[in-house]
Order: sequence, then structure tokens, then C-alpha cells
Amino acid sequence: MLTTIARYFNPSEAQILCARLQADGIPASVADDQHMMANWALAGALGGARLQVPEAFAEAAAEVVRAYHAGELEQDLIAEDPSAAERCPACGGERLEKTVPLGQRALLLASCLAVSVPFPTQASNYRCLACQMRWRFSDIEAAGQVRQPT
Ligand SMILES: [Zn+2]
Repeated sequence: MLTTIARYFNPSEAQILCARLQADGIPASVADDQHMMANWALAGALGGARLQVPEAFAEAAAEVVRAYHAGELEQDLIAEDPSAAERCPACGGERLEKTVPLGQRALLLASCLAVSVPFPTQASNYRCLACQMRWRFSDIEAAGQVRQPT
């Protein structure tokens, strides 16, 4: 019997965590994500996409999900590959504020009102809390350099 260990209103997040659990040898699956994508208005009624595992794996899977939400998996990645850390290109600071651009917010609202399907957004505006520098994710090129304005 499958046990639901987490629910997500972003089906992609549920699928990513499912893949992470499977990589750890846990036979995970996602339920109701297809219904959500076909009819977003059902998402609330369904309670989101369900991340499920067999009962015997529930404790181990819950620990992976907890580590994900606590940011521990990201820290593991950064320990293996320091270039994966998001840093201010000016001062190297790690305390960053990320926001969704206004255009994406407007598109989200418009798509919800027009077709009841949310447009996926991504926080791509950054502000360094140390030096107050602002940049967009798209301004970052390889090696973490900010593209010079053209
Ligand atoms: Zn900075």
C-alpha cells in the first residue's frame, strides 16, 4: 500500500522529488499530477500532487523530503560543486533576495483569469542583501559573471 509523504501544488516539484527518491532506491511515484495539469481548478480539491512511496519506505522518504525542504540537499550539492552556490557577482555574498519579475506575475494573473491555468513563474530578479546590487538570472553567464549591458 502506498503512503502519501508530501503534497505539492507544483507538479514539477513533486516529480523532481520523486526522481530524487528513486535515485536513492526508494520506489516513489506521483499521483494526481496529471489531473492538476489537465484541469488546474481541481488542484485545490485534490490537495495537490501526492508524492507516494510504499509504507516500508515512508520513514526514509520523509527524511529525504525533510532534508530537501531544509535546504540540506542544496548544501550537499554546493559542497561537491562550489560553483553551484548562488552568490552576488559583485561581492560574493550569499544572502540574496529573489523575486519574480513583474511581467511574469502579470502573465500568471492573466493566465489564471483567462484559462484557469497558472503560468509557471521563476524568481529571476536578484538583490544582494550585503551590497544591494541587483541583477537578473538571465544576466549571469558561465562562471557567474554578469553580462555587460549592450
Ligand atoms: Zn553583493
